[in-house]
Amino acid sequence: MKIDINQLVRKNIRELHPYSSARSEFKGNASILLDANENPFGSPLTQNFNRYPDPLQVHLKEKLAALNGVAPDDICIGNGSDQLIDLIIRIFCRPEKDAVMVCPPTFKMYEVAAAVNDAKIKRVMLDDSFQVNADNILSTAGTDTRLIFLCSPNNPTGNNMKRGEMEKIINHFNGMVVVDEAYIHFSTQPSLLNLVKENNNLIVLQTLSKDWGMAGLRIGMAFADKVVIDWLTRTKTPYNINGASQELVLDALEHGGEQVREWRREIVHQRRYLSNELAQLSFVKKVYPSDANFVLARFENGQEVYDYLCSAGIIVRNQSSQPGLDNCLRITAGTPEENQALISELKKFE
Ligand SMILES: *Cc1c(COP(=O)(O)O)cnc(C)c1O
Repeated sequence: MKIDINQLVRKNIRELHPYSSARSEFKGNASILLDANENPFGSPLTQNFNRYPDPLQVHLKEKLAALNGVAPDDICIGNGSDQLIDLIIRIFCRPEKDAVMVCPPTFKMYEVAAAVNDAKIKRVMLDDSFQVNADNILSTAGTDTRLIFLCSPNNPTGNNMKRGEMEKIINHFNGMVVVDEAYIHFSTQPSLLNLVKENNNLIVLQTLSKDWGMAGLRIGMAFADKVVIDWLTRTKTPYNINGASQELVLDALEHGGEQVREWRREIVHQRRYLSNELAQLSFVKKVYPSDANFVLARFENGQEVYDYLCSAGIIVRNQSSQPGLDNCLRITAGTPEENQALISELKKFE
């Protein structure tokens, strides 16, 4: 769906005069940089980080654009997707007035960021098979909902949302739909990235924290219409991606593609191993189908299994506090050795 994006942006954001960083006011070739109050001598490191990093991350965006078949100005890079989730809510939701819709059980950050921004929260639960229902969501949205967050594959349930339902929401919602694809490269379903062209109300989030193995460098991407990207860029802090991350990630993107593709295959293979092995344990009630890099399983007594694994030095994620997920543990696919160790500990519990 095409909507009037500027109309949806909060007035204070529309009227913002963005901070202009020292170096971006200058065009041309300079050899003496006395404009930004940096230390001219260097850093007490083998590599120098004494200069402020590129606030627009031009090289990184070019590389990410080429890898994803989009233009550089269709991308905003965040200090992790977390920063982008916060930014999106900040731009579109007026405190106390506008609502964010979430579909639990799902990623908790959407609600945390909504609460930080004092946005209202509307919840439409996923159904028994953890699916979204477009009609339900659209009829609950009302006039105050500005944003709908969908997560596919969904964390912590692991399943894909039905593409038809997601498309229906995107085609009919007169607000922004954020589709979080943190786990898309472990999935059998294709990305919704190619829908961004015809739908300026769609923001697709991806991250380098999972399959790319760079959670510590904090790089998340928002793909959207140029107008949306422009608002994100104007509102973000100028130096949100530090210089070390920019350099290291650029290097990884240039040289790591083959390795990452191999890891994706191996991780999916390991996830299947975990699912099969877990399903054979007598105290496992259900292993949910997963298209991500983890498995959600329901146990007879989740807390007991969780504590038992902790005492064996194996940490998994207890999801019992999520609605509908009592006694459920989320287990990330590790290396073959880690997964075998987990399974052999669980067999002893039995
Ligand atoms: C892990 C994860 C992310 C990634 O967050 P970063 O801040 O980019 O590390 C985003 N969304 C979901 C649903 C996740 O599980």
